[in-house]
Amino acid sequence: MSLFAIFFFIFGAIIGSFLNVVILRYGTGFSFVSGHSKCFSCSHKLAWYDLVPIFSFIFLRGKCRYCGSKISYQYPLVEIISGLVFLSLYFWVFLFNPIAFVFDAIVFCLLLAIAVYDFRHKIIPDGLVYTFIGVSLVKVLYFTGFSHILSYPFYLDLLTGPILFLFFYILWAVSRGRWIGFGDAKLALGVGWFMGFYASISAIILSFWLGAIISLILVALGKLNFLPKKLTIKSEVPFAPFIILSVLVEYFVHFDFFSLKSLF
Ligand SMILES: [Zn+2]
Repeated sequence: MSLFAIFFFIFGAIIGSFLNVVILRYGTGFSFVSGHSKCFSCSHKLAWYDLVPIFSFIFLRGKCRYCGSKISYQYPLVEIISGLVFLSLYFWVFLFNPIAFVFDAIVFCLLLAIAVYDFRHKIIPDGLVYTFIGVSLVKVLYFTGFSHILSYPFYLDLLTGPILFLFFYILWAVSRGRWIGFGDAKLALGVGWFMGFYASISAIILSFWLGAIISLILVALGKLNFLPKKLTIKSEVPFAPFIILSVLVEYFVHFDFFSLKSLF
């Protein structure tokens, strides 16, 4: 493993630490970049050595140095995932196409923040999802448009965003928001433009499989009375984390669901 790769992991973990701040402060009116980080329980200002990504959590054993209250697992998890994503992007993308790396790194940061925010609050923040849609549109125009200007792959990829949006919009409208949220439709628009036709359809199919499997497990656990009381089948399960996990898997693994490419 090269020194560069380690640098990318550390850089990703630092970005992850910033994403935690964004997830926490989004919609609260607090600035993402200014203001001291404080403990939620005792409000003690945190020193730099309390804020070292991943390591502080380990050394503090998940507890505040000043009052001993528990620190959420979200912090080290987001930092580790972000570090691993940057490390993977280094090998998969940066070495071959640094410009594509910039686009994709920004997109994965936004998606990670959206996934965690939706998991916690069951809503997708407009500011994050619109930025994702914008970056994805620029990506499809810049990359596919550049190499296949005014040709079939370009139109197909450009159309994929609106097609997926329409599909999710119909699901949302028919179920009156019970199956998926309107935010998921916006997310799908960005996924279509970010990944293009084949990869985004594969990712969306995978997300439905994951959603179905997890729901079946929840139903089974519910039948066996294994579920904690506050978690029931009727409670809304946020869908964005499934979409985003599927995008991540599809991006790095490139499976071709149902041999989509052979259809065309
Ligand atoms: Zn504290």
